[in-house]
Amino acid sequence: MHITRKKTKQVQVGNVKIGGGAPVSVQSMCSTDTRDVAATVEQIRQLEAAGCELIRVAVPDTEAAAALPKIKAAMTVPLIADIHFDHRLALAAAKVVDCVRINPGNIGAWWKVEEVIKAVNDRGLPLRVGVNGGSLERFLLDKYGYHTAEALAESALNAVNALEDVGFTNMKVSLKASDVHMAIDAYYLFAQQSNYPLHIGITEAGTAMTGAVKSAVGLGWLLTQGIGDTLRVSLAADPVEEVKVGFEILKSLELRHRGINVIACPTCGRVEIDVIRMANELEKKLGHIKTPLNVSVLGCVVNGIGEGKEADIGIAGGEGKGILFKRGKLVRKVPMDELMDTLITEVELMAKEQEAEGAHEDPAAEAPDHKAHSQEPEKPSTLLREIPVLSSRS
Ligand code: SF4
Repeated sequence: MHITRKKTKQVQVGNVKIGGGAPVSVQSMCSTDTRDVAATVEQIRQLEAAGCELIRVAVPDTEAAAALPKIKAAMTVPLIADIHFDHRLALAAAKVVDCVRINPGNIGAWWKVEEVIKAVNDRGLPLRVGVNGGSLERFLLDKYGYHTAEALAESALNAVNALEDVGFTNMKVSLKASDVHMAIDAYYLFAQQSNYPLHIGITEAGTAMTGAVKSAVGLGWLLTQGIGDTLRVSLAADPVEEVKVGFEILKSLELRHRGINVIACPTCGRVEIDVIRMANELEKKLGHIKTPLNVSVLGCVVNGIGEGKEADIGIAGGEGKGILFKRGKLVRKVPMDELMDTLITEVELMAKEQEAEGAHEDPAAEAPDHKAHSQEPEKPSTLLREIPVLSSRS
């Protein structure tokens, strides 16, 4: 499958480019109380270590706004302030952060929005216009009867048009709903009518497993259609999990390449090693590696080595011993009790060799996109183009 990414306008949040063909960036949001600087900074460090490229914090009051300078000083990735209702918090945040997120529908009078625009313009910051199914304007609810994809798209387009009318174009847009169908339809409708870069996500997606599946389905569909410039997976879980799931979605579509991709067989009656434990342990122990590498854990040699041909390196169980192989070729037999340690050492070595040869992760700030190409929003060239988007619910 070839993904043709929609060519959107590019904005820059700190050193991360969003839209205009830049790699799809992965972001998350702190779950800590922003007023608790130590706890927030600790979580930011964990997110940065996991590869998170943009981090948002909630700014619900003046004390949270006052904590922003200390938080910003302790982090390396761009900081986004999330503001609802009180535009004065946005004015304070704009002096510190790299991007401000507001929902024009709940910020109050238009003059307040204009004050926020002036504040972000003074520092050349982009604005994220974030509309949400739960906070649509009254007139749209009256017009559509309920929050619908059309209402979400209209709300976002109205906001974009109003901002353009006062000369502001430095923005990215999100249209979030917790319903996967509605989110897909809303983003699709908006993308057909606007070229602003899109922050995509399924809001309140659920727990780690449920939310990951919903996000993979919703964001996966949008991304295969070329829609989406930055993403957040919203989980009722540690935000580090959001980053991991975000990268897995992008890696599975070959839109980004980062770190270890563990390929593990589902096991069957032929299994000779503890594949499930080993695969989980590998993901944990090799999470620090940023170089893209496919690592296989296969239960037996019957199909194992053949099935592992796509892997850079891997192990398979075989007659009381483990088999270490590289790119489908047997390297040596390893005693069972040394198998995991041997694999970890070999993977770390391979990562170092690849780094020395110039292979590395593809950071959103610099690297070119890999398999995806971007172009003007003609019809995406995938089989999915024939699916009638707005009639997808029966
Ligand atoms: S690799 Fe071996 S154990 Fe794993 S599923 Fe295939 S046949 Fe079964």
